[in-house]
Amino acid sequence: MNDLSTPPSPDSVPVTQRKPDWIRVKAPVSREYGATRDLMRGLGLNTVCEEAACPNIGECWTKKHATVMILGDVCTRACAFCNVKTGMPRKVDLNEPAHVAEAAAKLGLEHIVITSVDRDDLPDGGASQFVKVINELRRTTPHTTIEILTPDFRNKMRPAIEAIVAAGPDVYNHNLETVPRNYPTIRPGARYYSSLRLLEEVKAHNPLIFTKSGIMLGLGEQRLEVHQVMDDMRSAQIDFLTMGQYLRPTPKHAEVKEFVTPAAFNAYGAIARAKGFLQVAASPLTRSSYHAGKDFAEMRAAREAKLAKAAAKG
Ligand code: SF4
Repeated sequence: MNDLSTPPSPDSVPVTQRKPDWIRVKAPVSREYGATRDLMRGLGLNTVCEEAACPNIGECWTKKHATVMILGDVCTRACAFCNVKTGMPRKVDLNEPAHVAEAAAKLGLEHIVITSVDRDDLPDGGASQFVKVINELRRTTPHTTIEILTPDFRNKMRPAIEAIVAAGPDVYNHNLETVPRNYPTIRPGARYYSSLRLLEEVKAHNPLIFTKSGIMLGLGEQRLEVHQVMDDMRSAQIDFLTMGQYLRPTPKHAEVKEFVTPAAFNAYGAIARAKGFLQVAASPLTRSSYHAGKDFAEMRAAREAKLAKAAAKG
């Protein structure tokens, strides 16, 4: 048996079983959860937490950590894993940057994550709205660190990256989502190597911006394929890797091929660290924005330690 075979138990459990215990989360009931929801609704902001039916919403919103989804709640793509609505999006909300900044201020956020739907209908893919949001956050909450999670800006990548990098987010995240073999079925509108190149370009434009990317496990990927994705990410100088369990939002979406055990996630995490990522988050409930503020602080400290070590060596 080689590494390309399906990992044997206890790396995974058959999906005919109900969700394993390690996936179960508490229902969102806290008062703070309600306050976060009311604030977002009041400002007319969408969140990927709700739109993607994220299992961590109870925990995150209780801590006032919400990931804002700009540019509407309708996506121009139809990826097989994603719960966001597909169709013809509405006009861009010109008040959105101010509302995002107001939410960050009211929630007292030290770190904010901003993502968006794909807007292939817009001439710039929505890049200018990211720039406006970053600028507005810098103006009104200058101490809030900013992480953006963008689409691939298909056919308009270069100008989009140039504009966004010039605005200076602290972290630029773009998810590869899965191994390249799965792209035709899971992420048909995207190209694996274009996504990698996007992150490489961000680093080339500004090496100080941390780059981040993630994949979902449980979509039939094999161990060696995951290792290859890690190597590809390191070649593109990606700083931070996230890995989490794919969960099927509805029966219309791609099926879960396996539930990867926490031990297997730990093993992947150890391999990723050995491959040189500055930061790694790997667990069944890891999502791009899960514990993003804490992970950002750790990543920044890791870079400082690495630079100090290099300087000491002379
Ligand atoms: S993990 Fe991210 S998307 Fe999920 S609830 Fe937390 S902040 Fe929202």
